[in-house]
Amino acid sequence: MKYIGPHVSASGGVENAPLNAMQVGATAFALFTKNQRQWFSAPLSEKSIAAFKENLEKSGISTDYVLPHDSYLINLGSPDPDGLEKSRNSFLEEMQRCEQLGLKMLNFHPGSHLKQITLEECLTRVAESINMALDKTHGVTAVIENTAGQGTNVGFSFNHLAYIIDKVEDKKRVGVCLDTCHTYSAGYDLKTENGYQDTFKEFEEVVGFNYLRAIHLNDTKKDLGSRVDRHDSIGKGLLGMGFFERFMKDPRFDNMPLILETPDETLWAEEIQQLFALNLEL
Ligand SMILES: [Zn+2]
Ligand SMILES: [Zn+2]
Repeated sequence: MKYIGPHVSASGGVENAPLNAMQVGATAFALFTKNQRQWFSAPLSEKSIAAFKENLEKSGISTDYVLPHDSYLINLGSPDPDGLEKSRNSFLEEMQRCEQLGLKMLNFHPGSHLKQITLEECLTRVAESINMALDKTHGVTAVIENTAGQGTNVGFSFNHLAYIIDKVEDKKRVGVCLDTCHTYSAGYDLKTENGYQDTFKEFEEVVGFNYLRAIHLNDTKKDLGSRVDRHDSIGKGLLGMGFFERFMKDPRFDNMPLILETPDETLWAEEIQQLFALNLEL
């Protein structure tokens, strides 16, 4: 079965996120458990945690389909010792917030080398950072997102993801989230039938579907291999409806959160219905 929903707002408190998901008919959702533009924030209150769990139950959405996203400031592969330490502390705090909320995954962008260390050194640091966070937490899987490869971001090649996973000690608590916009911008053709088959064949060979925990289901405004990250609404970008039809009928993407990070939130309810309709024809 497919589980779909957007990255919803948690403004006013994390407890509002499940309600926002419900409003658009979602069966999955993503959220920030704190202000994504801050390094640290006040701990979650007992009241907020209880209300989140209550509202999640009300929404009927299982924790299996909730995918928290970490702060944009965090760089787990930072070349700068202070930046690295701050990132690691902030990431640990985010993992602990997920634990408190009873959530099972934390999705993050691997990091950036900022032209100060090699790509490999950066990837190794990311893996070490993951090991440190997993050491101090229980039950939360670190879910690495592939990137478009904009600027000095690492993680745009499936090989980068495999390189990091290889160095993570607890393989049961590391996974991958593929963003369809990033995948295409990074140079993997998802648009044509052949491109689609080849891309996921390569993913299976290099990383393995056993590590796939989630999808960011986005269309893209930028060309194949452009290395530029610009999401578009479902079917309105360069991937087009052909891709989404193929994707929705592909059982390899069953039973994991399929998260919309599409730019026009007034379309979310419609996008979800449209995607579910493609799946019904099975
Ligand atoms: Zn994404
Ligand atoms: Zn993106």
